[in-house]
Amino acid sequence: MNRNNANRYLGVAATLAVATWVVASAHVLTGASDDDRAEAGRAKNVILFLGDGMGDSEITIARNYQVGANGRLWMDSLPLTGEYTTYALQESNPALIDYVTDSAASGTGWATGFKTSNGRISSIAGTGTAVTRLETILELAQKAGFKTGNVSTAEITDATPAVLDSHINERGCQGPANMSACAPYKKENGGPGSIAEQTVDHHVNVILGGGKARFDQVITGGPHVGKTVIASAQLQGYTVVFDAANLATVSGPRVLGLFTAGNMTLEWSGLQASPSPGSGLPTGQTCSENQRPANEPSLAAMTSRAIELLHDDDGSDSWRSHDDESEHRRDRGFFLQVEGASIDKQDHVENPCQQIGETIAFDRAIRVGLDFARHHPDTLVIVTADHAHTSQIVPVPSLTDTTRPGTLSTLLTKVDKSMMTINYGTRAHGQSQDHTGSQVRIAAQGPQAGHVVGVTNQTDLFHTMARALGLE
Ligand SMILES: [Zn+2]
Repeated sequence: MNRNNANRYLGVAATLAVATWVVASAHVLTGASDDDRAEAGRAKNVILFLGDGMGDSEITIARNYQVGANGRLWMDSLPLTGEYTTYALQESNPALIDYVTDSAASGTGWATGFKTSNGRISSIAGTGTAVTRLETILELAQKAGFKTGNVSTAEITDATPAVLDSHINERGCQGPANMSACAPYKKENGGPGSIAEQTVDHHVNVILGGGKARFDQVITGGPHVGKTVIASAQLQGYTVVFDAANLATVSGPRVLGLFTAGNMTLEWSGLQASPSPGSGLPTGQTCSENQRPANEPSLAAMTSRAIELLHDDDGSDSWRSHDDESEHRRDRGFFLQVEGASIDKQDHVENPCQQIGETIAFDRAIRVGLDFARHHPDTLVIVTADHAHTSQIVPVPSLTDTTRPGTLSTLLTKVDKSMMTINYGTRAHGQSQDHTGSQVRIAAQGPQAGHVVGVTNQTDLFHTMARALGLE
């Protein structure tokens, strides 16, 4: 980042409080063209919001329920929008396409710029259990002196966060006790260890999410053998917190927040979809909100704290004095990934209310990022998904209609007070519903944002972010 440019944009930020899209106003004040900046600008910060399984259908369902068909979510306000393709490669023959990706292969695509096969975490398709690695946007940013953060409502060792700071042949190898499919990666075999170990050993500055049980496991090789991953993190300079209250006050150059043993608690509850004519009829179900316990932070709260911890506004942040060579470099901004993970997980289990609640929670986290970008227009903000999913909006069935395949639930939308029926039809009731192979939305604002417009490939996102940060 050119320091002069950074100061120029910071200097105008205070005057931009009323702008809906600050880049437009920055243009007036700096003489830089929006179009030029959106095509060729450099960003000090990149915030990537990744809605897991949040295809166009999932966005539309959440919008209809929460704000009505004519309403708009925060994620709808980003000015530049396109669609990108999400396929994977076949492990047995990487020259062939797998048209339905999982989060591991798709994440490897946007995180590294390379396609891989389902289940792989930033490692090369077709290489079996051999230790291979594809360098990630987080790793490149970290090497260049940017601070880095990784936030999720899933276990922080789950596939989407893992693709940024880990390399392993099988996404299930999340803790030192989960390594049966990844033997060459085990530390006692000279490998980099499980995803939990690699996450900590990477010295990512801010790591927030669920998955504490993985980090309570005992390391089986290397210098910290016999210690838990949490103890290893503490020995490597991490402050570790386990609840919202301590997250609110924590400081330090490295923060690890683990707020539940597994995935974080869902925001909403409601009736599961059921075979035709489905749940919720005749009046339409209304979702129960505010189900998350107060000791777990919301995704918006985690996002806010991550930005505060990563952003060095006046140069006085404590990380500057930390005893680590890589962290003595001058402040170059940050790269932050924020995942709304359970949109996908609740789509799998046919729970429309829970799916919507997680989408709205993700949208509130996006609002936090947009608020930051309003005052820091040298920030590239991206909102996208990793793959499409099963849920579809279908006609409201009659109480006697038993001809519909799949499962259904009818909701009473909050604003319209009209009924909306959701169908889950890629599997039989009670089985995990499938991802689907459709392209998904990508939206952006800030430097390089113009490169998301049109139809692109998921791997193009890596290059958009890398160019924005001056890494290529
Ligand atoms: Zn999934």
